[in-house]
Amino acid sequence: MITTSIFDLFKVGPGPSSSHTIGPMKATYDFLQRVKELPADQTESASQIHIHLYGSLSLTGKGHGTDRAVIAGLLGWLPENVNPTIFNNLLQNPAETYDVKIRENAVKVAANSIKFDKKKYDSPFANTLVVRLLSENGELIHEEEYYSVGGGFIHRKGEEEVDVSTIQLPHPYKTMNELKAILQQTDLSLIDIMLANETAISRLSTKEIYAKIDNILDFMHKAVKRGLRTKGVLPGRIQLRRKAPVLFEKAKNRVATTDSFIIFLNAYCLAASEENAAGSIVVTAPTSGASGVIPGVTYLLKQHYHYDRKKLREGMIAAATIGFLIKQNASISGAEMGCMGEIGSAAAMAAAMLMYCTENSIERMEAAAEIAIEHHLGMTCDPIGGYVQIPCIERNAMGAIKAYNAFLLASSGNSQDQKISLDSVIKVMRATGKDMSKRYKETSKAGLALSMTEC
Ligand code: SF4
Repeated sequence: MITTSIFDLFKVGPGPSSSHTIGPMKATYDFLQRVKELPADQTESASQIHIHLYGSLSLTGKGHGTDRAVIAGLLGWLPENVNPTIFNNLLQNPAETYDVKIRENAVKVAANSIKFDKKKYDSPFANTLVVRLLSENGELIHEEEYYSVGGGFIHRKGEEEVDVSTIQLPHPYKTMNELKAILQQTDLSLIDIMLANETAISRLSTKEIYAKIDNILDFMHKAVKRGLRTKGVLPGRIQLRRKAPVLFEKAKNRVATTDSFIIFLNAYCLAASEENAAGSIVVTAPTSGASGVIPGVTYLLKQHYHYDRKKLREGMIAAATIGFLIKQNASISGAEMGCMGEIGSAAAMAAAMLMYCTENSIERMEAAAEIAIEHHLGMTCDPIGGYVQIPCIERNAMGAIKAYNAFLLASSGNSQDQKISLDSVIKVMRATGKDMSKRYKETSKAGLALSMTEC
């Protein structure tokens, strides 16, 4: 049964990576809360905290800001309330120390508290971190192991899985076929069903859900606007120059040409993605690496097609429906699925949004999402230097264009003739992700990542 909230899928936080930045920040924040609850006689001797990063977190964590994120969490910051300027300044000076407050005790952490462990670690997930509180002479006081499973979601080792039977959903489903059956058996619209489920999950009224979606859209569009006006070079060794402002100027000078709409869409997607790469505040959609696709598409719909709030809210709910299905039945994590899990999911969500906003047809929406996934199958994750820049930024623009084309292709056919169902393609995605060599899953050890060895 799908019990994910819309607001777990669309989360506000600092870039550049939901699995490598937001997840680890939440993990060390959780660690801090737990050690604060320990008896005082256990924590009074605490004098060190070690954070061990394994798997993909170790291999690409530097470029993905994992080091800053784990310190930020220990300082009590959460992704949604972090100040991006202060966050990005963390660890600029490797010798600088930070006080982690545990009751009356202040434990110092610094860059050397973080261990990028390259050795193999027996763990069920690609992104694993182990956090230890130690005394001065190295005695272990407390330890937790966390898994960052994509999109900013985390699991703690030993933590009981949420007992879904305790969540009484009015319309339970776990596949598109089950969801379509509910629609057939009731007079309800997709939006009615998703709102009723969301209320059961998050205990919010419809009015509150809409207010939160509006807020998410505002954050998305703020990222696009900032990216459109910010020039210069992105942080990191690649020294990649931002392109969104240039494309935006070009688009404005070519409004009368047939390709201007594509240039505008490119500019909007690049703008949000460049902001993500710069560590600014973005919205996971469904991940930070893919945080340019839906913001770019919704900004286009708002600015060029003058969609009102109601339509955009409903589009976001349609997009979330597809994100839930992929998360439940495959994965939205680059470390689990390669880039088809991130940009492929975002493109499918955007295609569903475009279709649902145009025609309230679940079959056509399904067809649009299916086509978008189909043409991302097997797409690897091989970011150069471990930075969420190349190919990630342009890939967001490409994902949005594919989403638009999936919407056009689905609009022009008869959905009864669609041979592949969304449930089938999600199964294929999961199988393909499992078959894909680990080297192509957010490790920067293969593919494009090897083409710029100096990074
Ligand atoms: S290549 Fe794709 S999955 Fe990998 S970091 Fe970039 S956007 Fe994320």
